[in-house]
Amino acid sequence: MRPELLFPLFAEVGRIKGVGPRYAKLIEKAAGPQIVDLLWHLPSGVVDRRPSPPIPEAPDGRVATLTLTVLRHQPPPGRRGPYRVVCSDGHADIDLVYFHAKGDWLEKLLPVGEVRVVSGRLERFQGRAQMAHPEHVVPEEEAEEIRIVEPTYPSTEGLPMRTLRRAVEGALERIPTLDEWMSPSLLAQRAWPRWDEAVRRAHAPEDARDLEPDAPTRIRLAYDEILSNQLALALVRARMKRQKGRSVHGDGSLREAVAKALPFSLTGAQRMALAEIEADMAADTRMLRLLQGDVGSGKTLVALMAMLNAVECGAQAALMAPTEILARQHFATIEPLARQAGVRIEILTGRDRGKTRAAIVGRIAEGSAKIVVGTHALFQEGVEFRDLAVAIIDEQHRFGVHQRMSLGGKGQAVDTLVMTATPIPRTLLMTAYGDLDVSRLTEKPPGRQPIDTRTVALDRLGEVVDGVARKLDQGAKVYWVCPLVEESEKLDVAAAEERASTLRRRFGDRVGVLHGRLKGPEKDAVMDAFKNGTVDLLVATTVIEVGVDVPEATVMVIEHAERFGLAQLHQLRGRIGRGDKASTCLLLYSSPLTETGHARLAVMRDTEDGFLIAEEDLRLRGAGEVLGTRQSGLPTFRMADPAAHASLFPVARDDARLLLNQDPELEGPRGKAARTLLYLFERDAAVRYLRGA
Ligand code: ADP
Ligand code: MG
Repeated sequence: MRPELLFPLFAEVGRIKGVGPRYAKLIEKAAGPQIVDLLWHLPSGVVDRRPSPPIPEAPDGRVATLTLTVLRHQPPPGRRGPYRVVCSDGHADIDLVYFHAKGDWLEKLLPVGEVRVVSGRLERFQGRAQMAHPEHVVPEEEAEEIRIVEPTYPSTEGLPMRTLRRAVEGALERIPTLDEWMSPSLLAQRAWPRWDEAVRRAHAPEDARDLEPDAPTRIRLAYDEILSNQLALALVRARMKRQKGRSVHGDGSLREAVAKALPFSLTGAQRMALAEIEADMAADTRMLRLLQGDVGSGKTLVALMAMLNAVECGAQAALMAPTEILARQHFATIEPLARQAGVRIEILTGRDRGKTRAAIVGRIAEGSAKIVVGTHALFQEGVEFRDLAVAIIDEQHRFGVHQRMSLGGKGQAVDTLVMTATPIPRTLLMTAYGDLDVSRLTEKPPGRQPIDTRTVALDRLGEVVDGVARKLDQGAKVYWVCPLVEESEKLDVAAAEERASTLRRRFGDRVGVLHGRLKGPEKDAVMDAFKNGTVDLLVATTVIEVGVDVPEATVMVIEHAERFGLAQLHQLRGRIGRGDKASTCLLLYSSPLTETGHARLAVMRDTEDGFLIAEEDLRLRGAGEVLGTRQSGLPTFRMADPAAHASLFPVARDDARLLLNQDPELEGPRGKAARTLLYLFERDAAVRYLRGA
């Protein structure tokens, strides 16, 4: 249960005094539904309303706070036009400009001959200073109220800054005094403020420097958030490890049979990863390991070997893929090899219904299906394994081990291996998995040709199409990827259809189109035609990113490459260069590119090393964007920035580990404070892993 101390922060924003239902909705949109969200909604700017220099020296386009004498009123000449109030600060004149204002109201606000302190954005029009709708107009004796530094916040349409600011102030008034969860030595060493002080100061910046991620208050708050993330992951992991595992240690016979049937031998990296996996499986604790490797680095084979290890012991193995296409592809790769070794393998996806499904589920339950490949349908109710020993989850580029833990429930002590094709930077890996064991396939299978990547401006589309025509004449297979249109699948599809129809005018029936709106069998038919038959130019949305394997494809054109995340471009490009023929990738961009856009495409052009690309992407764009889409499943942070605060992650990880070693149930004084921290950041699920919670 959430500690009572935190209740005031976990009320709805509408409970703040002065916030009515209409603004509550808008505040919810801008910051979040709960009062605590307002604490995390840090200022993005400051308005300095301290007295500014005389009008002639006051900078253009900035907020100025001036002491003015009102000279005269100039109502609009006709019915339209602004109402002007001409004032002077003794150095120059300035026009206060009002649209749709009532004259009598303005005469009361700004009586001729009197002095008023006025604050607002100063602009110059034909050399004359003016200020439209000043935000503050007060008599001199009230000037102290406005001559301050005010924070500004990311807001939303219809929500006045003043209202949002007042809501934040209301939230700040509810801050409780909490015991310190930070390790005393770290706190002393870093000289960070206490939590409550940090929150208050973060909302009262003195100047722009206080908004930087390395301002002490911001670091402290970022650290708190990261610590809660690392602590939660450490708790999940500790629980996993506490559950008894089983020792899976096959005799190697099936693995040997498959190795003999392969036309190649395993790479050094594959061997090393396998050794690590086999050691985990042999141990009597449960395996929780991530296998990270670029597209085409040979993860599937490693997965197969791990599964055969379980089968050698008489147990079963499962491989779960994120999409239907990918599940079928894994099946197609694995099935002939498994057959060589005499192992029965099944596939189960959402497409299987009725009798077919019942028959497959039956074979899984009685244990005659030794290896089962599938989508999440595999882990739905009604699917019971006789004896599942290892589960392999191919996440491609979706993450979130904790959600998938439920999968462990399918067996007594299922070892779990998560595979990902996205070379996630170390820091981001840590946000998603904490202290996970990781194997990396850094080496590509031999015989791969490097991909020749070029960047081309979109206005040279005609030449690109000519180039594609030449490649097609030489017998190449070509992918043409259409961009994301504002994250809308419908528009993506429209863009792809349209491109396909223009290309069809030139290439006729050799053009196929593939997108997320097609039904399963339709997709299969298009893919099959591309792989084996009449389609040579495949226009597609990013659906091809996950799981298309046509080694004969040697050309890829990506439209509006600047709109994609680097990780995504890397994934896409990984679809070519799979065979032994030279491949070409054309990244089409619309000019002008931003500087960052330029740098990003240059990275793509200059390297194929996915780990390098990922690190560069994180550096260039920051964590929020790195994975191309928000739905990546990586945890998002309110105050921590995995790029700017990268160095805090290992510190927090070690801190969390140390704390849990000393106080595994978080029962001591610091442990209790840490529980509060978990609740504060809404990691309630993790707290449930503790005794007495
Ligand atoms: P990933 O799943 O990591 O994208 P795959 O397992 O699909 O990669 O492997 C890509 C291709 O490389 C497949 O055609 C596979 O048969 C081949 N391959 C895997 N390991 C090796 C190896 N050691 N030597 C040569 N080719 C390999
Ligand atoms: Mg694969």
